[in-house]
Amino acid sequence: MPQQVVKQKSRGFICVNAHPEGCARNVERQVEEARAAVTRAGAGRTARAGIRNALVIGGSTGYGLASRVALAWGYGAGTLGVFFERPPEDDRTATAGWYNSVAFHRLAHRDGLKAASLNADAFSDETKRTACEILKRELGPVDLVVYSLASPKRQHPRTGVVHNSVLKPIDYPYTSKTIDLSTKKIHEITVQPATEQEIADTVAVMGGEDWKFWIDALLAEGLLAEGARTIAYSYIGPTLTWPIYWDGTIGRAKIHLEKTARELDALLAGRLRGNAWISVNKAIVTQASAAIPVVPLYMSLLFKVMQEEGIDEDAAAQMRRLYLEVYAPGKALVLDGDHRIRLDDRELRADVQAEVTLLWPEVTTENLLEISDFAGFDRGFKNLFGFDVDGVDYSKPVETDISW
Ligand code: NAD
Repeated sequence: MPQQVVKQKSRGFICVNAHPEGCARNVERQVEEARAAVTRAGAGRTARAGIRNALVIGGSTGYGLASRVALAWGYGAGTLGVFFERPPEDDRTATAGWYNSVAFHRLAHRDGLKAASLNADAFSDETKRTACEILKRELGPVDLVVYSLASPKRQHPRTGVVHNSVLKPIDYPYTSKTIDLSTKKIHEITVQPATEQEIADTVAVMGGEDWKFWIDALLAEGLLAEGARTIAYSYIGPTLTWPIYWDGTIGRAKIHLEKTARELDALLAGRLRGNAWISVNKAIVTQASAAIPVVPLYMSLLFKVMQEEGIDEDAAAQMRRLYLEVYAPGKALVLDGDHRIRLDDRELRADVQAEVTLLWPEVTTENLLEISDFAGFDRGFKNLFGFDVDGVDYSKPVETDISW
């Protein structure tokens, strides 16, 4: 394929293409930061025992990619990444997660780290079988399984039914300010409550059933090492967003994920002296979080407040904190009363939330750029697709037909 100049193309607020070099820069930055963190901690990666191999489900963007980088460069772990991305075709670019994964493989190869990737629907039985074959062939049993899927739909592997997830409140309509990401205007929206079927469908997509299917498949094939652990990610957020998040359909799915964590914890403890946990992470800009009504406006205010306090973290910083500090080998893990790791402690700090609560009624289309970090949110969103990334010359043609 001849090289081409790639300009950002959007449909509504979503970017429909991606820039391979911009995506590569993003991954390079994450890798450099992880290497620097390991050097600062004074430990070479070989000294970090405990995670030889990790399976990262949803490992091409957002928290999954950040986990994969932290585990590979933090522990020297071999990683299998499973994700569902569109490959390049003719002059159509691939999705960002594809290019992120190409960059991940290039850097892992450069640094002598084992890496394999599987681009397929994680919800299917066939993908689980193929992942097990890859592990047997290329890596061996895994010490850690990260479950970081964010998907709008799931075809159930046993029934064939396609479940679509929705982001809706439960029982009552919810009216709030929100930002239209394409017009950049603040307006009021009312979201009608979900039906019982929509709640059940959202739980089927974003709850823990598929996580359990993965662990069952790996156990059956003897691909979980003694002491193996698994972590899935959740979000709770402030009361401001509860009607649409924690008390809404997605919150129900997260409660199901927590229930699954307790079941898997008992299963892995009994079989392998292992563990299962939920890590409740901070709000960050990802393709998944930008799609939630109200949340992008909340994040724009939150980022401004957290930056002023010097405590803001992106996905990479959160995952370095999780895997290199909180979860460090030999260190007792601190859990909340519901068996969860809390990386959202800084977001939920009383002073941070008090400030966001003060700003919330004040923010308008006119003062948006002044009192919030919407500019940072907007740029962060473009960065996800490899656009507006420092150091990239967007007028230069690039090869888009690349693979790992
Ligand atoms: P994301 O959109 O950046 O990543 C989603 C990943 O899932 C990608 O790798 C994608 O390829 C993969 N995926 C989607 N459907 C798939 C399928 N059918 N088969 C295989 N892979 C598939 O999302 P994210 O925001 O990083 O979310 C990951 C997890 O973190 C979610 O559980 C989310 O709720 C949680 N979380 C997110 C935030 C946030 O603010 N973004 C905060 C806390 C917790």
